[in-house]
Amino acid sequence: MKQTVLIVGAGLGGLATALRLSKQGYSVQILEKNDTAGGRLNQIQKDGFTFDTGPSFFSMSYEFEAFAKECNISLPFTFVELDPLYSVHISGSKKTWHIYKDTKLFAEQFTDIEVDFEKKFEEYIAECSSIFHDTVDIVIKRNFSSKFAYFIELAKVNPFHIPKLFKTFWQQVCQYFSSQEARQILSLVAFFLGKTPFDTSSVYTLLSYTEFKHDGYYNVEGGMYQIVTGILHELEKQQVPILYNTEICDVQTTKNTITAVIDTQGNSYKADIFVINADAAVFRSRILKRKAYSESKLLKKDWTMGYLTFYLGISTKLPQVHHHNYYLGSNYEEYSKHILQDPSIIEKPYYYVNVVSKYNTNCAPEGCESLFFVCPVPNLIHKSSWHDAEQIVNSIIQDFSQRIELNIEPLIISKTIYTPADWEKKCNLFKGSGLGLSHSIKQIGGLRPRNFDEKFKNMFYVGASTVPGAGLPMAIISSKLATERVINYSK
Ligand SMILES: Cc1cc2nc3c(=O)[nH]c(=O)nc-3n(C[C@H](O)[C@H](O)[C@H](O)COP(=O)(O)OP(=O)(O)OC[C@H]3O[C@@H](n4cnc5c(N)ncnc54)[C@H](O)[C@@H]3O)c2cc1C
Repeated sequence: MKQTVLIVGAGLGGLATALRLSKQGYSVQILEKNDTAGGRLNQIQKDGFTFDTGPSFFSMSYEFEAFAKECNISLPFTFVELDPLYSVHISGSKKTWHIYKDTKLFAEQFTDIEVDFEKKFEEYIAECSSIFHDTVDIVIKRNFSSKFAYFIELAKVNPFHIPKLFKTFWQQVCQYFSSQEARQILSLVAFFLGKTPFDTSSVYTLLSYTEFKHDGYYNVEGGMYQIVTGILHELEKQQVPILYNTEICDVQTTKNTITAVIDTQGNSYKADIFVINADAAVFRSRILKRKAYSESKLLKKDWTMGYLTFYLGISTKLPQVHHHNYYLGSNYEEYSKHILQDPSIIEKPYYYVNVVSKYNTNCAPEGCESLFFVCPVPNLIHKSSWHDAEQIVNSIIQDFSQRIELNIEPLIISKTIYTPADWEKKCNLFKGSGLGLSHSIKQIGGLRPRNFDEKFKNMFYVGASTVPGAGLPMAIISSKLATERVINYSK
């Protein structure tokens, strides 16, 4: 008889694991607290507009291709490669920086700003490339049975990289570049990890390699939610049922085995194996009541920043705005050093704007544009009240209008705001931390919450706060690692 697997959570990690396991012959069912699948990778359909709620691009596209191949399907959505990768606007200057993959095109923009930029850039990227290739298979794409096993693997990494553990992303970039513009633009990618260049290890300069050289960034035709729609279609073919509006709040156990999970209505769901896609630290804390994950211990962990996101439908086209844009102020260092903890710094916010309808015309009515704004903000540990969200949003709309020389305020026909408190509620994210546990050196690889349970031998974890970490390609890798655990357990 087929072994039964219950997956708690229909985020990308949960969906991908469900497909992998169903293809391996398991009888899989998914339980999801919300009324849609996707978790953070979700969408809003409102007033004739479609918005992606969270991720707006991704790197390491080949992980999705490998996933499709391993599941013996064709990729159920279509990539669109981004070039330029994104644009950067620095306050006080009319110049738009285009982050091209082509080194010459990228370097031309620095001709009058940084001597020998192209040479320095090539040297910088070569070092980033060596970090990536020396660590990716050892630290990222691997299950560890214990901390000891992790450290043994880590010892195999080229010792040349050890000093980087003691440097920040910013320090590494400063070692190569002297202009503020080059330093800011090249360190911006540290924000994609939910921290800043000033508190992210220089090891993560490997991201500069992944964005510029290794693979670049990708969108999906029709909007990012097509990833979810595509996988859901495959799950339907595999007859994997999803029970929505089903929030798990308790478990039934015998000794060292989970026998059932219980939802908030008191219904119990039995299975042979359980895979948790809810946050791996939060689930251990609030559902399993583990001492090692008590609320006070969770507070001591290092969590990523919160996101204030908002979604505007406007009644005009914006040809002057590119697809992916970063709008920075003129106090990059000060801003970065305070943004995680000091709410007053967001009086003049930095933000990202994605015009999803630029290449996906079906996402907005004719002549209109769907805009998605992301503003990095302190999570709820450092700013618990969001009564001023509307005010912050309005100040961003005002700043954006000035920068693009068009007042969009009177053109807004749809407006939705998610504060970190909304994100917390929607996806059970700890204190509204957008990407979950940070990737500080103490919280990666074998030091992250494990993807197998400490006590219950038939319980496993997948997703952003377990291995390997946050981001869409990582969720796909995480599903592979969790699937390996399940298969090994049930052998
Ligand atoms: C604003 C924002 C922008 C981002 N941008 C990018 C980007 O551009 N590129 C990129 O690669 N990544 C990006 N990310 C990160 C990316 O979205 C996440 O790393 C990834 O989607 C996490 O997937 P997951 O499966 O681990 O978790 P989730 O998506 O959080 O899924 C977990 C699921 O479990 C459900 N759940 C939780 N608790 C329970 C329970 N008790 N019972 C039942 N169900 C439960 C939740 O409702 C949710 O559906 C962004 C994230 C945010 C918030």
